[in-house]
Amino acid sequence: MNYTLGLANAATDAGVRIFERSRVKGYSHTDPALVETPEGSVKADFVVLACNGYLDKLERRVARKIMPINNFMIATEPLGEQRALELINGRFGVHDTRFVVDYFRLSEDHRLLFGGGENYRREFPADISKFVRPYMLKLFPQLEDARIDYAWGGTLSVTVNRLPHFGRLKPNVYFAQGFSGHGISTANFAGKVIAEAIGGTATRFDVFADLPTHMFPGGTLLRYPGMVLGMFYYSLIDRL
Ligand SMILES: Cc1cc2nc3c(=O)[nH]c(=O)nc-3n(C[C@H](O)[C@H](O)[C@H](O)COP(=O)(O)OP(=O)(O)OC[C@H]3O[C@@H](n4cnc5c(N)ncnc54)[C@H](O)[C@@H]3O)c2cc1C
Repeated sequence: MNYTLGLANAATDAGVRIFERSRVKGYSHTDPALVETPEGSVKADFVVLACNGYLDKLERRVARKIMPINNFMIATEPLGEQRALELINGRFGVHDTRFVVDYFRLSEDHRLLFGGGENYRREFPADISKFVRPYMLKLFPQLEDARIDYAWGGTLSVTVNRLPHFGRLKPNVYFAQGFSGHGISTANFAGKVIAEAIGGTATRFDVFADLPTHMFPGGTLLRYPGMVLGMFYYSLIDRL
């Protein structure tokens, strides 16, 4: 296995065995737990649900506290330093204050990396580049002729109040989710405080676990229509 991620390297160096492409389909509510995949099962002293927007029906008790949202990004062709710096005069990330945010920055090789647009279905748009480009052109019409070299997306999850949702379902079952678009730092932090809690010191974990997290109206069944209506309303306000 050739892992390029530091965390995966550190884990494997510590003796952890990682099984990619093994979708967990369920786990027993026992201690230890039996975690099952279509290929095999693992007996586990502790279970950490870290599936975020992909949790689906694996654990309904926490699924109803989050809403999965698909978000997308594009990268232009290299624009040259001067043209790139005319877009953003510096190497920092920018986002607006709208409900459905646009966010962007320059890459080292002078591309514009631009995130914008969301959808709330299971499927991604057939052509992500075509989906995101109009958001970029609205802000940067001068990029009409710029080629889009890369386009990608993923599923994240949001909570009603946009605070992350940490908790314990049983003494041996933990979860952290609902990072609401800020998971790069907070998901890592969640991993650290869950590890602390499993190690016997739950002080920091409990601060986060005590944050209130409301259920989406309608639970897992009816949250989608409510969400779509809500997002439509707020995206209209964005345009005023
Ligand atoms: C386009 C895009 C741009 C983003 N930009 C930013 C940004 O600029 N800043 C920021 O802070 N955040 C950003 N985010 C959000 C950020 O990516 C997430 O908050 C973060 O990845 C959450 O980390 P996580 O480990 O909890 O979940 P994920 O990174 O989603 O990882 C969950 C993992 O669980 C696995 N999994 C799910 N279900 C199962 C199962 N049943 N069995 C086995 N494995 C399972 C999945 O395969 C996945 O590998 C962005 C997200 C997207 C999609």
